[in-house]
Amino acid sequence: MKAFTYERATSPEQAAAAVGGNEGAKFIAGGTNLLDLMKLQIETPTHLVDVQDLALDRIEDTDDGGVRIGALVSNTALAADSRIRRDYAVLTRAIVAGASGQLRNKATTAGNLLQRTRCPYFYDPNMPCNKRAPGTGCGAAEGFSRQLAVIGTSDLCIATYPGDMAVALRVLDATVETVQPDGSRRSIAIADFHRLPGDEPWRDNVLQDGELITAVTLPRSIGGRHFYHKVRDRSSYAFALVSVAAVIGNEGKGRVAFGGVAAKPWRVEEAEALLPEGAKAVVERAFAGAKPTAENQYKITLAERTLAGVIAEAKG
Ligand SMILES: Cc1cc2nc3c(=O)[nH]c(=O)nc-3n(C[C@H](O)[C@H](O)[C@H](O)COP(=O)(O)OP(=O)(O)OC[C@H]3O[C@@H](n4cnc5c(N)ncnc54)[C@H](O)[C@@H]3O)c2cc1C
Ligand code: SF4
Repeated sequence: MKAFTYERATSPEQAAAAVGGNEGAKFIAGGTNLLDLMKLQIETPTHLVDVQDLALDRIEDTDDGGVRIGALVSNTALAADSRIRRDYAVLTRAIVAGASGQLRNKATTAGNLLQRTRCPYFYDPNMPCNKRAPGTGCGAAEGFSRQLAVIGTSDLCIATYPGDMAVALRVLDATVETVQPDGSRRSIAIADFHRLPGDEPWRDNVLQDGELITAVTLPRSIGGRHFYHKVRDRSSYAFALVSVAAVIGNEGKGRVAFGGVAAKPWRVEEAEALLPEGAKAVVERAFAGAKPTAENQYKITLAERTLAGVIAEAKG
């Protein structure tokens, strides 16, 4: 690990100002992703701004009947919250499908959103990787791609976003709240938060220099039955090959998002309208234009079968 300096932030505005314009500075929250990357020298911050003392660890009701989740609420606390379990159960289910109990105790809401890809070439400094080292190429393009993305890819990168929680936030139409180094605030729809790789695969999301996540808000509950089905190589402690987050109402209508298939949670609203027609119709529409590799084309079939399981459970 490379040497770095360290400070504990005293307010969200101060934290944002301490990172903004300071090349090499990064926020640290639970540290469960960043520290691993620092040990491998994939991330080499010169200065860490620790946000863990900030008062961003509460889950509060909002005036419009929704919920505001502080950026530092742990994954454990969020999954266990009685209102989340009752009104937003897809979120609880997605969180407990991820990582381990110990990791979820440390992992924060903001850190979880910002976890980096698990593409094996990203983790191997001896291999080319446009996300880790821009301009070096993509080792996965001609290499092992079984776990990687099938849609929304570019010639420069075919990595997936690996997290579970954000897939549920996508069906719940969450909003990410931030503060900028100049003290101004903005709200970003979760649909617009993570980026597809395009020409800049090193940019995972739309956050700007020094922009600190302060909260994630959920609109009023839409009711329905909530599902999160995750398919992985091991039954626990593994990232999704494919996951399906869904909220399904009485007539079989609802919302659905897929994880493990793209650089962002994948939701196509026009495809959702086909839910009453079954999984095949939804997946054909949601994955139109997919560019799978020979190694990962199975993911499209797996997405259909996983969604079929959700639909069957919703009917049962
Ligand atoms: C072995 C292992 C297995 C795992 N399995 C899963 C899994 O199955 N599913 C899953 O979803 N996740 C999984 N994870 C990932 C885990 O959920 C994340 O590591 C965790 O959520 C990151 O949260 P953190 O608070 O520790 O983030 P940190 O490591 O502290 O930070 C992550 C990134 O977010 C930035 N950051 C932190 N807070 C803020 C903020 N408020 N504003 C702006 N930037 C910020 C940091 O600068 C850093 O770049 C696994 C992790 C490990 C180590
Ligand atoms: S898929 Fe993306 S993260 Fe993986 S090697 Fe290629 S550029 Fe790097």
